[in-house]
Amino acid sequence: MKRSDRLARLVRAAARNGIVIPAFNVFYMPLIKPICDALKAHDTLGMVEISRIEIQKFEVPSISAAAEEYRKYADPKVTALHLDHIPVIDEDGLEVNWHPLIEEGIQSGYDSVMIDASRLPFEENVEITAEVVRMAHTEGVLVEAELGSVLGHETGPLPPYEELFESKAGFTDPEQAREFVKRTNVDWLSVSVGSVHGAIAGAAKNEAKVEARLDIERIRQLRDATGVPLVLHGGSGIRLEYVREAIANGIAKINIATDIRQPYDRVLSSGGSIEEGQKVVFETISDIIVNRYGIQGSASRLERLITSQ
Ligand SMILES: [Zn+2]
Repeated sequence: MKRSDRLARLVRAAARNGIVIPAFNVFYMPLIKPICDALKAHDTLGMVEISRIEIQKFEVPSISAAAEEYRKYADPKVTALHLDHIPVIDEDGLEVNWHPLIEEGIQSGYDSVMIDASRLPFEENVEITAEVVRMAHTEGVLVEAELGSVLGHETGPLPPYEELFESKAGFTDPEQAREFVKRTNVDWLSVSVGSVHGAIAGAAKNEAKVEARLDIERIRQLRDATGVPLVLHGGSGIRLEYVREAIANGIAKINIATDIRQPYDRVLSSGGSIEEGQKVVFETISDIIVNRYGIQGSASRLERLITSQ
């Protein structure tokens, strides 16, 4: 069995049964431990994820260094390692030499990798994503791609949120998504349905995020059109009733970054120790697991679902 077969089945079971898999972004290496500890403590299937932004703009030394640190605390029953956003064109509009970064992820033991060619025209997004799928599947690694544009990482202010939501500008188109999945054979798809990324630059990075809404009807259409588990980026700061509806309608993975970065930043900037910061992250994730998503015990439950099939 390829190394990701089990994970692929778990994710599909999660999507079918309205269980969400939270994926936590690692801005600083000491976040890896409390993420893994909280997932283990609550028997919850979740992911540790590292993106290029966290290497370029925060304190993660490299893709492989994060994998090494992850292995100290990982438990394959409840944790998985995902390489988030390797962009082809980055948030500053620069071209990225993405190939060696994806290769490093595959070689250093990531269970899943994300190629983000969403800033390119559709045909090029298809072509590059299909190439990454070929590279990754040979090694038994899953692939996530993005179609549509989830804003927020770019420098400078976002357009007014309500305008963005009403116009549905950049939202993923179901017919395009159907064709995209068919032609690329991607395992799961990040879609734009109303969420926004947390700011990562300037003063905005410490401010509360805009409260986002989600287009539930669009999520349902995308699920039916693609047949693959959907991923929601920008999972911090969305109204809870929308999140619950989204999970019931095809969102299988939610990326959470701002919700754990800001509490950690606050502890350290007020003179707290790394250990105190880790404790706050552990408590924050526990609260997300229990009170926000109600997914304590999801690891055992998903395991039962895939073995009883
Ligand atoms: Zn994202």
